[in-house]
Amino acid sequence: MERQRKSLPAWKARDDFLAKLDESCKSGNRVVLVTGDTGCGKTTQIPQFILEENPTSAKIVIAQPRRLAATGVAGRVADERGEHQAGRASVGYVVRGDSAFCKDTRLLFCTFGILLRQLQSEGALDSITHIVIDEVHERNLDGDILMGLLRKSLKTVPHLKVILMSATLDADRFAAYWGNAPRLHIPGRTFPVQDFMLEDVLELTGYNPPKRKRKQGGFNNYHQQNHGSETKEEQPQVSLEDRVKRVDQTSVDYFLLAFLVKYIVQSNQMGSDGSILVFLQGVGEISQAQKIVESITQGMSILLLPLHGSLQPQEQSKIFRNTPGQVKVILSTNVAETSITIPDCTVVIDSCREKQSSYDPINRMPMLLDQFASKASLKQRRGRAGRVRSGKCYKLISKATFSKLNDHTAPEISRCALDQTLLSLLFLGAEDGTGRFLQRLLDPPSQASVNAATSSLQKMGALEQAEAGKLRLSPLGMHLAGIPANPSIGKLLVMGSILGCRTGALAMAAGLSVGRSPFLRVDGRPNRNSEDNGKNQLILEERSKLFETCGNSDHSMIAAAFMNWNNLPAGGGRRKRYCESLGLSFNGMRDIAQLVNQYGSSLSISGFPSSVESDRNAQSWRVLRTCAISAMAPDQLVRVYRPSTKYEDTAEGAKLKEGEARGHKFYIRRSEERVFIHPSSNMFSVGTYSCPWLVFHSMIRTSKPFLREATECSAYSLLLFGGPLTVEARNSVIHIDGWVRLSANAKIGALIQGLRSKMDDLLRKK
Ligand code: ADP
Ligand code: MG
Repeated sequence: MERQRKSLPAWKARDDFLAKLDESCKSGNRVVLVTGDTGCGKTTQIPQFILEENPTSAKIVIAQPRRLAATGVAGRVADERGEHQAGRASVGYVVRGDSAFCKDTRLLFCTFGILLRQLQSEGALDSITHIVIDEVHERNLDGDILMGLLRKSLKTVPHLKVILMSATLDADRFAAYWGNAPRLHIPGRTFPVQDFMLEDVLELTGYNPPKRKRKQGGFNNYHQQNHGSETKEEQPQVSLEDRVKRVDQTSVDYFLLAFLVKYIVQSNQMGSDGSILVFLQGVGEISQAQKIVESITQGMSILLLPLHGSLQPQEQSKIFRNTPGQVKVILSTNVAETSITIPDCTVVIDSCREKQSSYDPINRMPMLLDQFASKASLKQRRGRAGRVRSGKCYKLISKATFSKLNDHTAPEISRCALDQTLLSLLFLGAEDGTGRFLQRLLDPPSQASVNAATSSLQKMGALEQAEAGKLRLSPLGMHLAGIPANPSIGKLLVMGSILGCRTGALAMAAGLSVGRSPFLRVDGRPNRNSEDNGKNQLILEERSKLFETCGNSDHSMIAAAFMNWNNLPAGGGRRKRYCESLGLSFNGMRDIAQLVNQYGSSLSISGFPSSVESDRNAQSWRVLRTCAISAMAPDQLVRVYRPSTKYEDTAEGAKLKEGEARGHKFYIRRSEERVFIHPSSNMFSVGTYSCPWLVFHSMIRTSKPFLREATECSAYSLLLFGGPLTVEARNSVIHIDGWVRLSANAKIGALIQGLRSKMDDLLRKK
């Protein structure tokens, strides 16, 4: 391993690097920028150089944008240092939900998110001598905020040194941002890579894509339609130009990919011991591709290996192994783009696509967009093929499409919601609501997105006015800043603890945050497979029973399913059977369990530990539902109009009457827009709503705007817990949000006032 270390380009740059670091310390700047091709040894070597130079004094934190990189590299570096395992001696790591370190740890690998969180605690930088921020070119939100914070810290913490590393970066811009920091470029050892575009790929494989847009993914579908064919002789009349048009611009054509893999292996394009690396946009696409490539290459000695962020470490390590007699084909997300290097890769197949996080500014909902990657990303991916010897790169897009791609990916800060970020910055005292920190970032966010975040935090009661137009965190806001979750999920947790249903709130919060609903899609419609059909009917019946018991709420239903599952003994198959009876994803349940633990410990740290008191209302679904309402309203609130509604004499009222006449049973609106309950929600089949409002957690837009999960919300819950709605009293009637009227009496007013001040007291005391 030492021989391998010494053969890395970074090894030769060791003295140069240490000299630059020294120079930068002497000048008072204390920052160094390191660039160098992926795989040259930046991540594994630079931190070790620093440690070897200061063996007794250095305490180095290395921040990575991804969990997988942090844990994987920590393991590798521990190996190189003869320590067998991270966490035993000088090397450790901390990522969300997992850590391994000890008192001797001097090289601590972590994620950006963990370091940001660490910086929130008093004196966090006292014992750290060096902070390395890796992959700064990725420009994700946490990385940009980290850079802004560390730039400030350098002024106040004299012993701190910062090292920024990246494969490619706009070095001039970064250096200027860091006060003309010294730079070091580690020259790579790369071999030429030959390029093939979609046109070439279609020629080489002779693949004839189907004309109509095929529903992606079904192998049977492909054979039933029998449009595509492998050999051009079968349908010679289709011109190359037309074939290109059919595949270009669509998402991945898995059959084209499979035939290309087959062609490459059959004609031994990767050389005797080379492997093939395929870039795809996500985990779903990887498993889809795996199925189809497997069936098309049956009988060939190919080892297909997935690579993505949610792999277990032992699965991940398979990609580094030699597989004599078998061609390794690694199907990877963009983790293999810069953070993980596959040692023997000589052929890259690039779908040229990626999933990019973005958010919908109207619904204030995060979303993942499946889109083309930037030219800079594609260049990185291509470079992966030329590390051991000359290689080949096959891109599955046409020359014309390629030429239209963006040069760089826009920094994440320009396309995400800033609620959580603003909360942490206010907590740190870096921001005071005037934009003094955010405006000094490498790429400042737009005023509109800062305003949106401010207003959303204000509505949920997380902010207070301070002097001179400045803002500070309210007691609730202080608690939310300590919980690593979207603020509305944080509020759900805090309210759950206060109102005595902590366990239920944890289950609900985790269930809503895992991303995918744990309820698998079950179709109640008859289908050809009558056995399936019967099973599905049973599942749907079980679901509606559960739904009724937990008070007609999708939010509570997720919590109920998890709590029932969690109360069963692990092992012995009872949990599995429970999942089957309700059509639940077992892995989904496990993910929720992990998140429940994580949220639970941050709640405890925040002053809300588990106790008899914190679960005194565990039996009441109404109380749990109220927690959901307090967390979601008023931003995620919709009105339900139903036949019994008395319409006001307005244009709106007239429209609703008209709808009713046309037989609309319910008409749900979110401000000016009509929205719908998603068929996968249990609310969908209920058919009657007894409350004038629903709160929802997420909304998706497909053919129409759909609420994915919804909970009924009564006027009193809203009045008491719904935040600053427009509540008016006119002629002794209370109008909430201009809509439901309750007869006003002094008691209600006093109740609300009393409750609000009691809550404030409680939060302040904690
Ligand atoms: P960089 O950060 O410059 O991209 P790294 O320091 O990550 O480079 O990697 C340096 C070398 O170490 C690469 O050749 C890579 O293949 C190898 N390497 C990294 N991690 C592992 C691992 N877990 N097992 C085997 N080799 C590894
Ligand atoms: Mg690296």
